[in-house]
Amino acid sequence: ITTDWDYQATLARRHRYMSPSLGTFTAFSKPVVLKRARMQYVYDENDRKYLDCLAQNLCISVGHCHPLVNREAKKQIDEMVHCTTMYYQAVPAHFAEELVATMPAGEDWVVHFVNSGAEANDLALLMARLYTHNYEILSLRNSFHGLQGPAMTMTGIKTCRQSIPSDGGVVHVHNPDQYRGVFGATVDPYVNEIDITINSSTPGQVAGFIVEPIQGFGGVIPMPDTYLAKAFAQVRAAGGVCIVDEVQTGFGRMGSHMWGFESHGVTPDIVVMAKGIGNGYPLAAVVAKREIAEAMAKKKFFNTYGSNPVSCAAGRAVLRVIADDDLMGNVIEAGDLLESRMIALKEKYSFIGDFRGRGLMRGIEFVKDRTTRESAPEEAAMVAELNKDNGLIVGRGGVHGNIIRINPPICATKDDMQFAAEVIEHSCSRI
Ligand code: PMP
Repeated sequence: ITTDWDYQATLARRHRYMSPSLGTFTAFSKPVVLKRARMQYVYDENDRKYLDCLAQNLCISVGHCHPLVNREAKKQIDEMVHCTTMYYQAVPAHFAEELVATMPAGEDWVVHFVNSGAEANDLALLMARLYTHNYEILSLRNSFHGLQGPAMTMTGIKTCRQSIPSDGGVVHVHNPDQYRGVFGATVDPYVNEIDITINSSTPGQVAGFIVEPIQGFGGVIPMPDTYLAKAFAQVRAAGGVCIVDEVQTGFGRMGSHMWGFESHGVTPDIVVMAKGIGNGYPLAAVVAKREIAEAMAKKKFFNTYGSNPVSCAAGRAVLRVIADDDLMGNVIEAGDLLESRMIALKEKYSFIGDFRGRGLMRGIEFVKDRTTRESAPEEAAMVAELNKDNGLIVGRGGVHGNIIRINPPICATKDDMQFAAEVIEHSCSRI
């Protein structure tokens, strides 16, 4: 089997044979064709190197083609690539044990492997409903939980919602966006709104509440410090369970903690994982308190590829690499450096309205005017394109596309962040 790597031919084949519904996120005027990738870098068909701060929206956690991840996956490929939910197999069972060990102590956690984040969120919702015997789920405006099924309905961004009848029972509440949220920067009105919504838009009892510790696709919106604890209390008082979607925030990306929820001093009832869990190998997981998972044990739930041993072998290696290479320590160092450089940049350019995030999950919000905070998507797009021309790939986010997202694999170093800051600064100087 041979592959034609010609740039124009690749674009032509994609346009001719792949569905136009497959978006490209970056929307560069001259798209990048990737040929290979190593750790925090990707290379195009001419072997031009880019620092990958998009990492397919955080799917690559410990580094592209990480040697240990690939070694473990290859070992398993040669042993067996059988999807094994119908059988017993050691590798997924080991991985489940190792994931449970990362969860807060004192609870009886169990793991249910599936294939994608959307599927995992659907399963989490199903578990919540069966366990509580309630139907309504509270989700946040501006959230992203997937692009299909109930997960799409839980998603609170218009660009991710198709014009079809929505799955019932999803009620959106205002997200506590400290920069442009409807209630400003104080937390309590957002918490009160949960109470008001439960009393007005549900029977008074809910199945649960789902939240990303930092809204990623929505434009890197961190949940403020006391919000999760207060929100969880409201939801639990109405009979609901609390689901944290760690698809972007998990696996050490915050630096200070393995999971995004940990810095909020809360223990969720269900934790949803995907993307970084397999460092590119398809895998997702719902980690739930046993009693919640048991609520759906009468009827079995499985899908063909869930807990496939190759992805689970890769996942085990991800956990090992995070620990052995002290990647969380690295995230703090690299993230702090980026933060100080970006804070200085914000002083310099009035079109940078906000810089935020934690660890190696950061966002720069572009505005036309700091007082009105009107979004500046064109400026964000120009900076992203100029960055790319200078060897740095970043993502974009937010409903208006005016937020630049910097999410490299967590092996990206201080030097890489120094490089990223310099490229971004140079791009800003050209606006
Ligand atoms: N939750 C979050 C927070 C996500 O960012 C995503 C993907 N961007 C998903 C869920 C859905 O994951 P998947 O694309 O694997 O369905």
